[in-house]
Amino acid sequence: MIDTLKLYNSLKREKEEFKPIHEGFVGMYVCGPTVYNDVHLGNCRTFMSFDMIYRYLLHQGYKVRYVRNITDVGHLLDDGEDRILKGARLEQLEPMEVVQKYTNGFHDMMDVFNTLRPSIEPRATQHIIEQIEMVESILKNGFAYEKNGSVYFDTMKFAKETNKYGELSGRIIEDLMSESRDDLKNQSEKNHPSDFAIWMKAAPEHIMKWSSPWSVGFPGWHLECSAMSTKYLGETFDIHGGGNDLKFPHHENEIAQNVGSCGCSPANYWLHTNMLLMNGKKMSKSDGNTISPEQLFSGDSPHVSKGYSPMAIKFFMLMAHYRSTVDLTDDALLAGEKGYKKLMEAGRSMNHLKAEAQGPGKLDAQIEGLRKQAFEDMNDDFNTPKALSRLFEMVSIINGLKGGQLSSQDLSLAGLEALKKTYNDFVFEIFGLKDDMVNNDQSEYMNGLMNLIIDIRQTARETKDWGTSDKIRDVLKALDIQLKDGKDGTDWTIN
Ligand code: AMP
Ligand code: ZN
Repeated sequence: MIDTLKLYNSLKREKEEFKPIHEGFVGMYVCGPTVYNDVHLGNCRTFMSFDMIYRYLLHQGYKVRYVRNITDVGHLLDDGEDRILKGARLEQLEPMEVVQKYTNGFHDMMDVFNTLRPSIEPRATQHIIEQIEMVESILKNGFAYEKNGSVYFDTMKFAKETNKYGELSGRIIEDLMSESRDDLKNQSEKNHPSDFAIWMKAAPEHIMKWSSPWSVGFPGWHLECSAMSTKYLGETFDIHGGGNDLKFPHHENEIAQNVGSCGCSPANYWLHTNMLLMNGKKMSKSDGNTISPEQLFSGDSPHVSKGYSPMAIKFFMLMAHYRSTVDLTDDALLAGEKGYKKLMEAGRSMNHLKAEAQGPGKLDAQIEGLRKQAFEDMNDDFNTPKALSRLFEMVSIINGLKGGQLSSQDLSLAGLEALKKTYNDFVFEIFGLKDDMVNNDQSEYMNGLMNLIIDIRQTARETKDWGTSDKIRDVLKALDIQLKDGKDGTDWTIN
């Protein structure tokens, strides 16, 4: 591992050196999606940011247990309706059909963006027992009270006794005190407006409900993350993440529940990603200020002039630090696409470079320096824009060697290997990009392979080896690749 990793801990509001609880191991929990409709690009940005963090930790040699949940119960809308039940009502589906449908869609989209799957992906409905147990221990410790079959977390008592409510979001107890009981309006079961439900009694017509010591009901949204992170990562673990819109109330309440049940803070480091904006405003479905990933791929939206590939979009997002906002505009996407193509083209050219210096060449030291700096950038709270700028300095070296402005006499074989390793480590392993062109019939790689196959087929035909030539024809046909024999040779196309 190079140097030490520093990360911005939202809990302390400063960058801190990362020290895992168990050397060499990292436990990381990230709040996953609520699966009641299609995943939107803002969600994708957050999960891509944590994918980059996960990949970087893996690359640095950590054994990471990455837990990202699926919220399938308890996340209510402002009007009090459960999001999943609303989806089920609108689409006339079973609630679990809604959950499965949008979980599949979420996974597919995460694959399109080439993100790694988490180590464990627990669902809230599969952990009702653990959540009931947590409510029991919070009640036992005196930080919750029951009213008519529902159980509420007593924020005032917790704040006074532990001095911990508001630690993450910066809300102070005086703010809480000043919230008057008049604010309760129709939520009159609560003792104080900032109290929140950890168990809710279900109305008779409510579909998703379970027996508990208090009522037939369902858990509060915040509870699932407390219960599932404890189950899979322990009472205290290394990293907890999510979008910064979750800081309050979701994460603040998670901390309160964990401290309220076991007396210990859940995570040592809290990481929050910033929001994806569109034309300067937070991307959000409810405001209509949104574009779906599919619309962005196809260009079928008034917000963009053309379609963009998933990898060009991913590159565009990596150009911003995860704690900065990203404003999605057509111009910014065009610039991102240009950068992405330049990076990919350089990667392809890199494989044809020659290294002719006998000893260490002039360029070797420069490449080594850029590699070191790129790792330092990543160790500085995952500074992807800076690390990318080092990669673009390498792109200039590659293009200089290709175009003859730089000499291969100044590059040794070891230097070329370092260049290739740095490029591949960052572009493919850490940033998780792929070369779009590899799946395209214009690709250099595809062309190379197809020429080889066409050559073998030609030889097989000349030697009357019909078995081989038929096999080539059948396999290509199954892959929808068509060969066209002409007088100048054989061409191929993908149908
Ligand atoms: P949800 O499904 O609403 O619980 O959101 C899943 C994740 O996406 C959470 O971590 C949110 O913070 C995050 N998120 C929601 N909207 C945006 C946005 N516009 N930009 C970035 N992340 C977002
Ligand atoms: Zn959560």
